Amino acid sequence: MAAVKNVLKHVRTEVAGRKRRCYRKQVHSIVKGDTCLVVRDGPQQETTYCAVCAAEILAKAAEALADLRGVFGGEGSA
Ligand SMILES: [Zn+2]
Repeated sequence: MAAVKNVLKHVRTEVAGRKRRCYRKQVHSIVKGDTCLVVRDGPQQETTYCAVCAAEILAKAAEALADLRGVFGGEGSA
């Protein structure tokens, strides 16, 4: 059985091993042990987001996914 393609390979979560800074708002800090969202923008380019921004980014992604699914009449379509 062919596996279903994962199109979200460039997005992952990571537990910060050290203090990091949120890429979206520099004042947001990510402390060691926090779960953060890491987005790979290119081969050498990764951006990290704090939990607050991650929630907003994922909410936006969920909307985009719902729109796409709606086009194909999948579950969750409006
Ligand atoms: Zn943030």
